[in-house]
Amino acid sequence: MELKEKISNIFTERLGGEGTFYASAGRINLIGEHTDYNGGFVFPGAIDKVIMAEIRANGSDKVRVFSVDINDYAEFGLNEADAPEQSWARYIFGVCREIIKRGGKVGGFDAVFAGNVPLGAGLSSSAALESCFAFAMNDMFNGNTIEKFELARIGQSTEHNYCGVNCGIMDQFASVFGKQGNLMRLDCRSGEFEYFPFNPQGYTLVLVDSVVKHELADSPYNKRRQSCERVARRLGVETLRDATMEMLEAAKGDITAEDYFRAKYVIEEKQRVLDVCDALNAGDYETVGRCMYETHRGLSKDYEVSCEELDYLNDLAKECGVTGSRIMGGGFGGCTINLVKNELLEKFTSEARARFNEKYGHEPKIYEVIISDGARRL
Ligand code: ADP
Ligand code: MG
Repeated sequence: MELKEKISNIFTERLGGEGTFYASAGRINLIGEHTDYNGGFVFPGAIDKVIMAEIRANGSDKVRVFSVDINDYAEFGLNEADAPEQSWARYIFGVCREIIKRGGKVGGFDAVFAGNVPLGAGLSSSAALESCFAFAMNDMFNGNTIEKFELARIGQSTEHNYCGVNCGIMDQFASVFGKQGNLMRLDCRSGEFEYFPFNPQGYTLVLVDSVVKHELADSPYNKRRQSCERVARRLGVETLRDATMEMLEAAKGDITAEDYFRAKYVIEEKQRVLDVCDALNAGDYETVGRCMYETHRGLSKDYEVSCEELDYLNDLAKECGVTGSRIMGGGFGGCTINLVKNELLEKFTSEARARFNEKYGHEPKIYEVIISDGARRL
């Protein structure tokens, strides 16, 4: 394996001898968007793009880490005051601190790490980094006594407390629990989850990254949340998870048209995730694809979190005969996730490159992904 060899060579060169290898993965979310804060479902899976680290305890109270991809070195202690300057190292420091804060053990160690999860492309390279080190610290210093869900929470708290990102649990959950050939339906209300087989024989999952990010003035994300909360209050439910279309229709006269369409999207999306689960159990990938298009339509027309570039990529997918396509992530830029029949793959990716470039002046970035294992010792 290329990545492993590269890390191993640098480890030997810089530190001598060898350590133990750990890896964790980036993730996709097949369906279930803007559902997490409404107590609904998300449906992620880990991918074949990872952060990998070779690690060896050094018997001191110091951590020494080399990042191959950034070509940078960091050294730090394990007390709260020892936070490193470099933002990439704060992910690792944060994981150590969050374990210690929970009563776990972390000793000094030397590490070399590298990865192939594209940074900032919506595939959650940061969760892969956190999960890789959280898994390793659990294995090396805690006899694997920290529960896996807690490892995900350690990554999430790292983002909150050391990296200034107020994220949900999905990315770290997917990175920790990912299993080859399986997606996971996570119930964001209860934290319960279930694996569903994902073996799309004859299809490929393709991410098309528009490489645009529209920063809009008054936070549209917060406005969406407020709409959902307003409608939930009006319907007398805790979150829209408990609302039905019948309830929404009955209240239509008392809420704004905007709030109505926001809630309609959320209620329909909850059902779509369940429909996709049924379709996967039946091996029916055409229905999965149809649901993805419906999600895109809802995100674009009802929830209004799309943008010109993403709608263009979605239309282009449809024209090429792609089975399913939708915005992945919060919207206003980022990527689309596409379920593509293998015989259309070449045509779709080359048309997406050429036509997007012609219209917007740069090519999108394209990544094929395979649903793979999450955090592990190699
Ligand atoms: P993403 O959507 O990919 O998670 P983020 O901005 O949340 O994007 O996280 C990206 C950050 O994670 C990078 O700026 C870097 O600090 C860290 N990171 C991710 N991958 C690597 C890597 N291979 N090497 C070093 N740092 C990395
Ligand atoms: Mg991230």
